[in-house]
Amino acid sequence: MSVHLRVGGPLSIPAMGPCFMCQREYRAVVAVGELIRNGGPGHERIEIPLYACGTCEGQLTLMIADALRSPVRPYARARS
Ligand SMILES: [Zn+2]
Repeated sequence: MSVHLRVGGPLSIPAMGPCFMCQREYRAVVAVGELIRNGGPGHERIEIPLYACGTCEGQLTLMIADALRSPVRPYARARS
């Protein structure tokens, strides 16, 4: 199972519904990605759209900016 995020992309169409991050119900949300389970023997591929409210979308944007500014796992670089 994996999570694909595309915060601030062109597909961020506003809607009303629950936020997957703060789990508040019926808020103004935008699509920010999908939760994906790949298919395989005995089960089919599932894609569940993820929606986040404006506050949480801002947090995701900051997380991405922080990750681009510094390595997510700085110890991984030390080994090479
Ligand atoms: Zn939220």
